Amino acid sequence: MATTPIPPLNEKTFERVKALLGNPKIAAALALAKDEAASAMREQIEICEIPAPTFEESTRAAEILKRMKAYGVDSVEIDEIGNVVARRPGTDPDGPELAIGAHMDTVFPAGTDVTVRREGNRYFAPGIGDNCAGLRALLQVVRCFRGIKTKGTIWFVGTVGEEGNGDIRGSKFFNAHHKLDGFLAVDNTDVGRILRGAVGSHRWRMSFDGPGGHSHGAFGQVPSAIHALCIAGAKVAHLKVPKDPKTTFTIGTFKGGTSVNTIAAHAECDVDMRSLDNAELLKLEAEVFRIFDEALEEENAIWGITDEAKKLRLTKTPIGDRPAGMRPDDCPVLQTARSAQKLLGIALTDYGYSSTDANAPVSRGVPATCLSAGGVQKLTHTVKEYFDDVESFLGPQLIFLTAVALAGAEGHEPLLPKRG
Ligand SMILES: [Zn+2]
Repeated sequence: MATTPIPPLNEKTFERVKALLGNPKIAAALALAKDEAASAMREQIEICEIPAPTFEESTRAAEILKRMKAYGVDSVEIDEIGNVVARRPGTDPDGPELAIGAHMDTVFPAGTDVTVRREGNRYFAPGIGDNCAGLRALLQVVRCFRGIKTKGTIWFVGTVGEEGNGDIRGSKFFNAHHKLDGFLAVDNTDVGRILRGAVGSHRWRMSFDGPGGHSHGAFGQVPSAIHALCIAGAKVAHLKVPKDPKTTFTIGTFKGGTSVNTIAAHAECDVDMRSLDNAELLKLEAEVFRIFDEALEEENAIWGITDEAKKLRLTKTPIGDRPAGMRPDDCPVLQTARSAQKLLGIALTDYGYSSTDANAPVSRGVPATCLSAGGVQKLTHTVKEYFDDVESFLGPQLIFLTAVALAGAEGHEPLLPKRG
């Protein structure tokens, strides 16, 4: 999560977002976010207490759908892979299409105690911040939009599978099936953060398998899975990658073997590769593949293994795929969000990169960012996670103001252009 120097804010965009504050309906919607903060916090707790491990989001999804309906969205359904998808049509059939998405899943396995414990303004529970704060903000934004006619169409989406092996599958699916002009992901709580880029990652499990054998008795007759992995690992360690766009790699886990006196039959490692640029990511991945293929040949050749039954085999299993991308500084979504932030008195403290549901649209060239839900989350992804309910309404206010400016309203042209 790097932060780059902050480029200038477009004055015209800022003035147009500012004009929205003079619209009494918009001002009332912003006030509503503050007035409803206490009930929104209760909603955050109630949602948190419905377990939603990645791939097991359906109970929580049904609850989100029910609440969206109750808040006045008529067209809402669960899509093919489990996303909650609500459509709020705009008044202009040619208006832009904007989606606001918050992920519903948590990193915690089924059976984790998700009961929320309160101490003053602090709430403890796995997932209370990530991403129940985001879901609270999303539902608040749905209520803020009640009674406001937008020119563009707005989609409210509860996504599945953002975390870990979910690989942002909900956002990928939604973005692949809708022709969007803009996308706002809601994740994290720090309203000072606006993401300008999406870190892509490719992750692979590389496994070597062979017959194995006695360390003394079979020596010279069979290859070693661990030795092959070591040959590959040493070469990976010497890889050179660009600093800009930031591209990284690591062998995150390394395991195998049976005992000290056995030539290993099996060895495997998990490789993580990341970049802000998809082309660099693919280049690095090709290099890593070449290294493992070479290591396989080398280990078989060292012992002169020609018998197919005795040769080592290499299996490459994909375990992660998140596409990368960067938005230009004049991106309408970034400029509008930054204007809204400034108008709400929030300082831009982090203008960087991360990996969120916004990766999917950003990698497709769709103007997109990730905005935060407000409040403060800590110890995220641990069972000690907690959330401080401090000015939590700022998240929904920021998301709402950004979204209404992008979609346009009566007397206000959309800031989000229609894509060709
Ligand atoms: Zn998370």
